[in-house]
Amino acid sequence: MFSRDLAYAFCVQMTVLASGSKGNATLISAGSTHILVDAGLSCRELLRRMAQAGRDPATLTAILITHEHLDHVSGLAVLARRLNVPVFFTEATHRAWVRMLTPRKTMTYTQWLEQLAREHAARQAEPYGEHLPAHLHRGAPATAVAQTEPQAESGAIAVLNAEEGEPCEPEEVRPEGKRDPAFLPAVEYFQAGQRFSIGEIDINPFTIPHDAADPCGFVFHARKESLRMAVATDLGYVPPNVKQALRDVDVLLLESNHDLEMLKDGPYPWSVKQRVLSRVGHLSNAAAAEFLLRDYDGGAHTIVLGHLSEQNNLPELAKLAAEQAIGDRLSLLGNRVVLAGQDAPLEAICL
Ligand SMILES: [Zn+2]
Ligand SMILES: [Zn+2]
Repeated sequence: MFSRDLAYAFCVQMTVLASGSKGNATLISAGSTHILVDAGLSCRELLRRMAQAGRDPATLTAILITHEHLDHVSGLAVLARRLNVPVFFTEATHRAWVRMLTPRKTMTYTQWLEQLAREHAARQAEPYGEHLPAHLHRGAPATAVAQTEPQAESGAIAVLNAEEGEPCEPEEVRPEGKRDPAFLPAVEYFQAGQRFSIGEIDINPFTIPHDAADPCGFVFHARKESLRMAVATDLGYVPPNVKQALRDVDVLLLESNHDLEMLKDGPYPWSVKQRVLSRVGHLSNAAAAEFLLRDYDGGAHTIVLGHLSEQNNLPELAKLAAEQAIGDRLSLLGNRVVLAGQDAPLEAICL
């Protein structure tokens, strides 16, 4: 059987595993490079979604984080440890994430780094696990933070079997209080506006206006195939740098968070409505449509609308607004509009 899965194995693709305020995760693949953008579901659920999408978690190259809000990071630490993959953040996002996980410790980031160094020194006499993936030895950026390797971890990640319901972290390897909740196999830093590469994919991170420490969107450029895919969700409006970044993309995952009327009349408290509506909140259907009408160059194969609010939006409204804005540029070959959902993976967009 020449299955769809086999065909997918050879294409450059975006697979949205989940999108919305209850969790976000998107797989970007080119050749043998597979990047997970955000890990906003539990580790177990992320593994389940990858299996549903016909993807092997063991092939994951790296995890890339847009910002530290819980709907983008809730499964991050456990998944990264489980798969033993490096996590790419901006330094400010990493810092904010570490603080979020260690709220009761009144520890500064510097103190935390010092503590890691002390723990590292204490373990010097003991042998390390030899299971860091090869790509981590290729030469990390100067700013990379090498973290200490917990002794118990190596056994825990040897077997990947999500389908049998095996917990992501067996209880026996995480006695209470023994593990740093922010431990990651490796952390690498990038900066908005500075391109970097992971395997076969070049990445252009760009700043987005959102109420997080240092939020970013991304354009992924599959070098060999010369195809570009963008992720732009969690933004209060579309500033010039984002318009610029989103030119000439083949797949665009764009936020279409809420219908303005539904939000205004909806159940959210006033303060939350103000936050969503603000310049550092979320993009409305109307604002996404405005971008598609005035600034979008019309060159994409597919536009994925994502981060739809379950309370304050309807998929039909988001889709209608986007399709009206695209107007006669919509065709069988281009500008197809699809909706990413919260509860199941979207079928892979294969280029
Ligand atoms: Zn957010
Ligand atoms: Zn979000």
